[in-house]
Amino acid sequence: RAKAAGKAQAIVFSEEMLEGAPERLALETDFRHALERDEFTVVYQPKVGLKSGVTESLEALVRWIHPTRGFVGPDLFIPFAEESGLVMELGRVILEKACMDAVRWQQHNVVVAVNLSPIQFRNPNLVDEVRNALEMSGLDPKFLELEITESAVLGDVENTIRVMNELKTLGIRLAIDDFGTGYSNLAHLKHFNVDVLKIDQAFVRGGNGGPLDHLSDGAIVEAVIGMAKAFKLHVVAEGVESINHADELRTLGADLGQGFYFSRPVSGEGIDEFLAAEFSSGVRQPATAV
Ligand code: C2E
Ligand code: MG
Ligand code: MG
Ligand code: MG
Repeated sequence: RAKAAGKAQAIVFSEEMLEGAPERLALETDFRHALERDEFTVVYQPKVGLKSGVTESLEALVRWIHPTRGFVGPDLFIPFAEESGLVMELGRVILEKACMDAVRWQQHNVVVAVNLSPIQFRNPNLVDEVRNALEMSGLDPKFLELEITESAVLGDVENTIRVMNELKTLGIRLAIDDFGTGYSNLAHLKHFNVDVLKIDQAFVRGGNGGPLDHLSDGAIVEAVIGMAKAFKLHVVAEGVESINHADELRTLGADLGQGFYFSRPVSGEGIDEFLAAEFSSGVRQPATAV
């Protein structure tokens, strides 16, 4: 079964499909089996230094390799996983897989960023689970980053500040994802113990078929970078699809770019090969002691 699924690329669940009760039940059964059978895998998308041209960080992105439906992307099952609560278990699996992969890339000084669902962020066991994933994998915490969407941190600001502070005591890095879409009260940002701000793709590539010759909204990108720098945050721009996007972002002072222009998400084995090739061609500095 895995053979057919591995190559399949068609996406499969449709939004309407998930609306009927029987379909949802089928999905829930499938999803529980998928956790038992370990059908979830993690792919990685490079975040590239806009000045250095070197991959400094990777974003871990989950994929479901469904036995009959093929590769299923997160937009089609994360909402369900959140509503059903199963995202807790899925999140643990992803975190453990990503930490185990990241151990191989420490020698190249590459950080791995894992997305957290808002539901996970509100889980009182989160800090213990992150600590466990670090311990069981042996990953140096400085190579783990957690991405939390702007909308998730806005709800209960007191709680957000507390959880962020606890996570930071583990020695990991924190990022605010999809920044610019959530109507943040900028005054809050100052109190968030984060390292990285990820500018939402909407301002970089725009929507589907957005402009390739310019940033979709350069004025907003510029304003967000200015503010991030004032708070001493690293800036990652998502949705970089052209050399023009990359050039303009570099000029505006963004630190890292992530998007199809640099690379689509690839398997862990693909990253092994890619980092080894960068290393042997001399673009990567020899690894510092880790
Ligand atoms: P995100 O965290 O903002 O991740 C970026 C998404 O944009 C990824 O989609 C990535 O493949 C896509 N992308 C990156 N560069 C480009 C580009 O240049 N053009 C276009 N058109 N798309 C680009 P993906 O993997 O489908 O993930 C979608 C969302 O699902 C993620 O948005 C994140 O919110 C969620 N997600 C993905 N993996 C996980 C996970 O492990 N856990 C949780 N809780 N959520 C996840
Ligand atoms: Mg993300
Ligand atoms: Mg994002
Ligand atoms: Mg997103």
